[in-house]
Amino acid sequence: MTIISSAFKTKKLETYRDIKIEKPIVISTWNHGLPANKTAWEILGKGGTSLDAVEQGVRITESDPTNGSVGLGGRPDRDGFVTLDACIMNHKNQCGSVAFLQNIENPISVARKVMEDTPHVMLAGEGAYQFAIEKGFPKKNLLTDGAKKDWEEWLKKSKYQPVINIENHDTIGMLALDSLGNLAGACTTSGLAYKIHGRVGDSPIIGAGLFVDNEVGAACATGLGEAVMRIAGSSAVVELMRSGATPEEACKEAVDRIIRKHDSVENLQVGFLALDKNGQYGSYSIHNGFNFALHTSNKEKLIDSKYRHKQ
Ligand code: ASP
Repeated sequence: MTIISSAFKTKKLETYRDIKIEKPIVISTWNHGLPANKTAWEILGKGGTSLDAVEQGVRITESDPTNGSVGLGGRPDRDGFVTLDACIMNHKNQCGSVAFLQNIENPISVARKVMEDTPHVMLAGEGAYQFAIEKGFPKKNLLTDGAKKDWEEWLKKSKYQPVINIENHDTIGMLALDSLGNLAGACTTSGLAYKIHGRVGDSPIIGAGLFVDNEVGAACATGLGEAVMRIAGSSAVVELMRSGATPEEACKEAVDRIIRKHDSVENLQVGFLALDKNGQYGSYSIHNGFNFALHTSNKEKLIDSKYRHKQ
């Protein structure tokens, strides 16, 4: 770990702060971030790239059938289809994304292929699926027996009522800074449980669910995607950091922006997570209950996010 005079100039003080650069480092949303970070660390700890780390890290969550909000075992839409959204971004502002993708277990790796093997940023639906098959990804039924049973239970009332912080929405967003000082991020989800068939959330939208600018920092979002998209959430967090905000201050201002744009946030949860160029990190959410996982050379833990309102 090195200590340098920060490149950050705080707006208020107009002075340079001494900041410890913490790298490598990886952070990710929710407690499913703990095992995902462990895999990411196997790459980062050996001097690997942040891009490889975030891809391999979130694949763990995607392939976990017991996780009802990402990849295999994700809760279906109201018609019984598991539809996945994911995106990835590197330190050169290169990015790839897939939306409304079905029957492919690891959408994050398809997103990376979109980034690396095509001139495009985003593929959706049947086209994204065909592309994945062409690239050799196997077709797989992602609706597990447990998720099917829960959906059949839900069908009895068919009432769409998002409840904050429980498993009808969650996402893994992961941000990493590698030993070369390069940032990357990944975001992947099955989206809101029992959503309208065709609904796409913030998670595959560059600038909403995820944004990385290697000059400044990276951010990702979780919670109600519609609210995140309305303020271009992750891009806003990065721009706030560019203006001198700490990662936590930036996440807090983005949360406040969402609160200001809604008449009520009683049943609304959004959480932002951010990592800056110096390895400083922070988060903020509308309500309590959001947490994130941190992994560095000497720390591995789950941290409760600060929040605006207590439930
Ligand atoms: N943001 C995701 C979506 O709206 C879900 C979540 O993070 O809970 O699809």
